[in-house]
Amino acid sequence: MKIICIGRNYADHAKELNNNIPTEPVLFLKPETALLLKRHPFFIPDFSNDVHYEIELVVKINRLGKHIEERFAHKYYNEISVGLDFTARDLQATLKEKKLPWERAKAFDGSAAVGKFVDKNKFKDIQDINFKLEQNGQVVQDGHTKNMLFTVNQIIAEASKYFTLKIGDLIYTGTPAGVGSVKPNDHLKGFIDSDLLLNINVK
Ligand code: ZN
Repeated sequence: MKIICIGRNYADHAKELNNNIPTEPVLFLKPETALLLKRHPFFIPDFSNDVHYEIELVVKINRLGKHIEERFAHKYYNEISVGLDFTARDLQATLKEKKLPWERAKAFDGSAAVGKFVDKNKFKDIQDINFKLEQNGQVVQDGHTKNMLFTVNQIIAEASKYFTLKIGDLIYTGTPAGVGSVKPNDHLKGFIDSDLLLNINVK
């Protein structure tokens, strides 16, 4: 499986990192080895002094697809969750400055945490969902999918022009504002509405 991620999909987050609002989705990948294993803590890697959390709505692909039209994209996923796109922000800043790819900062082992999946049919509209992240009991990110610059279905259409989507692939749909650093012993909890789906300790 692979993990497809969208960068800068919320205007408030693009602005907080002084990035322009994109006119097409910013796409990047994480390998399967980036997936944080279930019930494992997240270990802050020794190559970064500033790893950030980024809470994101995650969609799990359930059919093989290529060149998927936006109007059919909803048929390619049944389950959603929230995930964390852990980012070595210091390393990413250096790579961006040198105009180099972001993988060292974004695709390292354990950099993709994902919560328990729920049936998308629990929700009337995928673009009308609240999700949030708590760090040690404080809400640090509070997002709403209506604020995505590119909808889930637009992302699937765009990504599948370049990458064949396979069963089990995950799409991280971008983070809202409020990203920040993690510290050892942090406790991170991700929610859709009031449902706790993701629960991670930082070491
Ligand atoms: Zn992200």
